[in-house]
Amino acid sequence: MTTLDVLIIEDEPSYVDAVSVALAREGIGVQAAADGRHGLARLRELRPDVVLLDLMLPELSGIDVLKLIRAESEVPVIVVSAKDAESDVVLALELGADDYLTKPYSLRELVARIRAVTRRGGVADTEEAVLVAGDAVLDPNRYQLRLGETVFELPRKEFEVMRLLMGRRGRIVPRAELLEEVWGIDWDDSKTLDQHIRRLRRKLETVADAPVIVTMRGVGYRLDLSSAARLRDT
Ligand code: CA
Repeated sequence: MTTLDVLIIEDEPSYVDAVSVALAREGIGVQAAADGRHGLARLRELRPDVVLLDLMLPELSGIDVLKLIRAESEVPVIVVSAKDAESDVVLALELGADDYLTKPYSLRELVARIRAVTRRGGVADTEEAVLVAGDAVLDPNRYQLRLGETVFELPRKEFEVMRLLMGRRGRIVPRAELLEEVWGIDWDDSKTLDQHIRRLRRKLETVADAPVIVTMRGVGYRLDLSSAARLRDT
C-alpha cells in the first residue's frame, strides 16, 4: 500500500501543527506552505496526493491559488473556508475543488475527506465495470470517457456526473440527486451543475453516435440514448 501525502497551504501555524500531528498518526505525510506562491512551488516539487487549501491566505487568495492549481493539475483539492463564507465555497467548487471543510473542522472529518477524495482519485484496488452508451465508453478505473476514437481524461466531478447519467440508462437524474451525490451539497447550486453539464455536452457533441444530455426543465437531466446503441455493462 502506498502512503498518502498531503500538501497543506495555510498561514495559521496552529492549524498546520494540529493537522500535521493528526495526519501523521494516520500514516499520512504532511508538507506545508504558508502562502499560495510557496504552495504552488511545493505542489510541483512534491506531487502530493491531496491539497488542503485554506481560502483565507495572505497575498494570493485561496481562490486565486485554486485557479492556478487547476491550470496545471488535477490533484484532488479540499478547500477550507470560514464559517460565514458559503459563497467562497460555491465558487471554489465551480473552479474545480473536490470537497470543502468549514473551520473549525474536526480532524477525524478531515481524515475521512482525504480518504474519500483519494478513493475517488482512482487508487481503487478493484476494477469497476465500464459503462457503454453508443460511442461513449466510461471507464471508472481510468476516469476516462472514450468517444469513438477520442479519449477524454475527465475531471473528477464531470466524471461523477457522467457516471450517474449513464448508470441511469436514460432515466431522469434529479438535480438535487446530482448535487448531493457529486458535490455533497444540499442547496441548489445551479451554476456549478450547469457548468459541468455544459462541459460534458461539449465533449459529447464531438461524436455523432454519442448520447445526448437532455435538460428536463426544473427536474434534472437524462441521457437520450435513442441515437445511441443500447446501454450495457461490460
Ligand atoms: Ca488562513
